[in-house]
Amino acid sequence: MPKNKKPTIAIVSLTCCEGCQVAILDLGTRFLKLAEHIKIGDFALLEDEPEAPNYDIVFVEGSPITKENIERLKDLRARSKVLVALGACAALGGIAEIKNYQDKNERMHYVYKNVESINNPDIKPLSYYVKVDWEVPGCPINKEEFLKIVKQLLAGVPPTIARRPVCYECQIRQNKCLLQEGLPCLGPLMLAGCGAPCPSSGYPCDGCRGPIPGLDPEKLTKQLLSQKYSQEEVNLILERFGLQDKVYPEAPTKQL
Ligand code: SF4
Ligand code: SF4
Ligand code: SF4
Repeated sequence: MPKNKKPTIAIVSLTCCEGCQVAILDLGTRFLKLAEHIKIGDFALLEDEPEAPNYDIVFVEGSPITKENIERLKDLRARSKVLVALGACAALGGIAEIKNYQDKNERMHYVYKNVESINNPDIKPLSYYVKVDWEVPGCPINKEEFLKIVKQLLAGVPPTIARRPVCYECQIRQNKCLLQEGLPCLGPLMLAGCGAPCPSSGYPCDGCRGPIPGLDPEKLTKQLLSQKYSQEEVNLILERFGLQDKVYPEAPTKQL
């Protein structure tokens, strides 16, 4: 980026709960300090200025569900030097991907009693439609990690997330191991960085940050879970944050 020119950054939502943007706002004065060094090209939760024509970095949260979402995503890609998927919805498919594995017709009639039909495509991560340069994992993202990644990108340094499992942080917190107690915890497979809040509160890790790159998640998931749980139960766990098609790439999902 040229010296003396502030980089233009956009933070954009597709279909989602916007919890990752809220996590960014939760940085409070630290976000305002960061904002002194950048030009905000679009951040609808914070301002309603017209969009900048091009972005140095765009962070995209949420799922590209509607045709408008998909067109918006492609347009953002064309106008941005770097595109970052923000959170589990954008990077993995996230919670909304659960519907890919259900009877969508039955669900539609459960939710909308009097609707004949509705456009109800499968949920896909951003990378299904466009090139994604980096991912900020989590549901929601870790705000400290976001700040670190923004600073790295602004400095022209490739963002780094340590490739260690959630177990590493769980054991630092001296938790009792839920997996050893027979609960289906995905901690050994999942990328740390969250501080292991779920096992620290007595809940198994469901993998919102996605698998550690380079592992064979199918083999490891089998080793971890299948001796005690049925495939159906394993699938239900993997569906929670959009992991099933990462673990079983042949999982039946349909194109839009
Ligand atoms: S990743 Fe989680 S917190 Fe972020 S937008 Fe999706 S559902 Fe909301
Ligand atoms: S509870 Fe889960 S995250 Fe913690 S050490 Fe055991 S398997 Fe790992
Ligand atoms: S412990 Fe697992 S499910 Fe919980 S925040 Fe961390 S990665 Fe996500």
